[in-house]
Amino acid sequence: MARYIFITGGVVSSLGKGLMAASLAALLQARGYKVRIRKFDPYLNVDPGTMSPYQHGEVYVTDDGAETDLDLGHYERFTGVSARQSDNITSGRVYRDIITKERRGDYLGATVQVIPHVTDAIKQFALDDQDDLDFILCEIGGTVGDIESLPFMEAIRQLRNDLEPLQTLSVHVTLVPYIAAAGELKTKPTQHSVRELASLGIKPDVLLCRAEHPIPDSERRKIANFCNVRMESVIPALDAPSIYSVPLQYHEQGLDAEVLRGFGITDAPPPDLAQWHDVTDRYFNPEGEVNIGVIGKYVGLQDAYKSLNEALVHGGMANRVKVNIKWIDAEIFEGDEEEIIAKLEPLHGILVPGGFGSRGSEGKIASVRFARERKVPFFGICLGMQMACVEGVRAAGITGASSTEFGDAEEPVVGIIEEWMSEEGIQEREEGGDLGGTMRLGAYYAKLSANSHISAIYDGATTISERHRHRYEVNSAYIEPLEKQGLIFAGMSPDGLLPETVERSDHPWFVGVQFHPELKSRPFDPHPLFAGFISAALEQSRLV
Ligand code: GLN
Repeated sequence: MARYIFITGGVVSSLGKGLMAASLAALLQARGYKVRIRKFDPYLNVDPGTMSPYQHGEVYVTDDGAETDLDLGHYERFTGVSARQSDNITSGRVYRDIITKERRGDYLGATVQVIPHVTDAIKQFALDDQDDLDFILCEIGGTVGDIESLPFMEAIRQLRNDLEPLQTLSVHVTLVPYIAAAGELKTKPTQHSVRELASLGIKPDVLLCRAEHPIPDSERRKIANFCNVRMESVIPALDAPSIYSVPLQYHEQGLDAEVLRGFGITDAPPPDLAQWHDVTDRYFNPEGEVNIGVIGKYVGLQDAYKSLNEALVHGGMANRVKVNIKWIDAEIFEGDEEEIIAKLEPLHGILVPGGFGSRGSEGKIASVRFARERKVPFFGICLGMQMACVEGVRAAGITGASSTEFGDAEEPVVGIIEEWMSEEGIQEREEGGDLGGTMRLGAYYAKLSANSHISAIYDGATTISERHRHRYEVNSAYIEPLEKQGLIFAGMSPDGLLPETVERSDHPWFVGVQFHPELKSRPFDPHPLFAGFISAALEQSRLV
């Protein structure tokens, strides 16, 4: 049976627990262990699918179609293990399941309570789907002391008794702030946080202390004494120059060795960190740079495009160049040609990402036109591909071309389809239906025409599988007129009905995809579309 590592956070939020969990998992994996990471989110939404990216950052979609927390993206990028629906749970989902059972009468007259019903459901989620894993890392969202997280803390406390003594470990992530006026690091917030955790019955085994300044041994000893852990278990976690340096940095601080020691494992093989050395070498020693513009809607908050940002960095690593990303609000282009030229001319590549709603759509269409006319490498993802198709029809003089997502469209180049085929059979959706869980979600196959640009990008493959998250589709009635405009639909759904990719014959690198390739890019395995886009941008940088 797997061993469990429970990761909680204290003092403040945003300490990077997700990255910490991902990095620890990567270090254990580098020693040959099989790992999986799970996220427990205490909020009451059933999943983050309906939350604004401004509230919660991007929604990360798994192969099996779950809309999950963006931390699952970190987990995948750092371990290469594809996350599943069963790796993310929220209070909302737990309560929904319990209330459904209660209405069905499954509890046979019992009073339904937080303990044991809610805690049992949480424990079951932790224990399910263990495969042949060595370690399951469970990250609890929020900060110790939050009202919402209490049932999760209680479930962990119980699990630590239910399982064997050396089968679980608690890692607590805290902050050791530096008070400039006093010139001192302060350990008191960590002491309080550990006390709060202990009051819930959980004694941490390892403390990971985030700090902006090195933590001297005297302070580590103080934390150890006050918090009832070994001094070696107080691991300083200083700010890292890149997220990709974090695994190496934590390893140097002894995190993985200390965690293994906590499980009584003293004969673990040393970690093979070659791939992390290669990744950081590529990141810190680029041989050139390119400027990429992302023309989007949620540009004020980079977490809203977390995977996209990382996939562009990976594309840079593949080409050994630094990628300077300019986040540009599409709205500023609406009706302002000079602004478009000023902002887009210095770029070596233009990317229109996924998005929802009409705001900024005209600016995105204007960016597609600029990229097409000036022959600047263009990459359209999901909504970006839809806008490339609308622009293509407009270029033929049909000004009423639009998407029905933005209201009634004279020429619905993009529209809702009521049924589509998935591996589970025909799926249906209606205009005006519930917004939660009514999209084409998760991995779908696409067939690529042999000898197309897209197939060449995928190294000659003619069948690919990529993750989707959208409600609208490019209307196949417009394929013919668009092909007359030079657009080629070389990627289609296996039944031949839904356009999956589009490219231009009259352009050096113009690709639109209906899916989200950024979700599958990894630092040690950059996605070919991002590697190709950055390579084309590098060519472009040599021309201008
Ligand atoms: N809003 C569009 C749709 O629902 C595109 C979605 C996206 O870009 N993820 O089809």
